[in-house]
Amino acid sequence: MATTQHRKRKKKHPVKRFLRKHFALCMTVMVLIFIALIVLIIYAFKNDSKTPGKAKTTPTPTKGATTAVTPTEPGNKQTPTDSPTGSAGNPTDPPTPTVTPTEAPTSTPTPTPTPTAFGECSSVTTDLDAEPIEMDNWPIDYLMLVNWTHRLKYTGDPEGLVRLDEVLDRNVYIIQDPISVPEKDRDYVIVDDRDNYSRGNRVALEALNRMCTDARAAGCSQVKISQTGAYRNYATQNQFWINRITKEPNYGKDPYKNPTRTVPGNASEHRTGLGFDIWLIEYDYKWMHTNCWKYGFILRYPEKKTKVTGIQYEQWHFRYVGEEAAAEMHELGYCLEEYIAYKNGEDVAALKH
Ligand SMILES: [Zn+2]
Repeated sequence: MATTQHRKRKKKHPVKRFLRKHFALCMTVMVLIFIALIVLIIYAFKNDSKTPGKAKTTPTPTKGATTAVTPTEPGNKQTPTDSPTGSAGNPTDPPTPTVTPTEAPTSTPTPTPTPTAFGECSSVTTDLDAEPIEMDNWPIDYLMLVNWTHRLKYTGDPEGLVRLDEVLDRNVYIIQDPISVPEKDRDYVIVDDRDNYSRGNRVALEALNRMCTDARAAGCSQVKISQTGAYRNYATQNQFWINRITKEPNYGKDPYKNPTRTVPGNASEHRTGLGFDIWLIEYDYKWMHTNCWKYGFILRYPEKKTKVTGIQYEQWHFRYVGEEAAAEMHELGYCLEEYIAYKNGEDVAALKH
């Protein structure tokens, strides 16, 4: 018995001895296991609170190594690592309530309006073969260029048109009642009731009224503007053109060599309401040519610029461009084509075709 007891004691002995001998090692191992357990518990808890009911069910198929943490983040602490694939769509996410509309952080660039060239207008195209589109109230710009190479896109009326007799003072303007003109004598096409009266751009007409008032005070005669001398509709302008080329098939073939007086329906600035053929009863334009720039007008087709404008000299055709531009053009001695090229940093001399 004593020996067996002794053996039993002896059997326990090595363990005890081992424990006693390696006590520090055992404790270290236990502490490490304990720490590992705590870390695991904390990690599991964290994961759980972030994705309630989702983390385990959605295997996030396309994300690979990045796993559950970042893509489903509800937003309040957006990490820089968030959705490197451009999170805007995240097409694989089902529409569960946890999928928040996290489009904001992707910094969608606010579209800044592209700067347009000086004098450019959205109603004008340089595509000479473009078919004009039927539209009313198309936008105008006081510096818009309408000529042989810059055509209007639309056939309807521009914005800002009013009747001449609504603005022009009867002391300076002789009113022609278009309705009194017999139909057979009309050179204009009535598209609708609005065409029964001469119309023009209101701002331009107000400036014209000031100019004509001062011209009268300086001794000029009254002004007469015919039905087709201010705004013209497309049908009228195009009819002028067709009449002309029917008689002269080569008319306008090379306007910069042989400047014309008539242009196609969408190449005339009479269609903008900013151009006016001003007839002075006594026919002396000196005062008006000298002073028009002070009122925002230019003589649109000067004698020395016919190769630039493609239009013959017209001492009666005035165009409203606004006071600032008119003053600058007067100073520089430029016509509209040259002024716009100059402002856009282009070669002005190259315009002489
Ligand atoms: Zn004209």
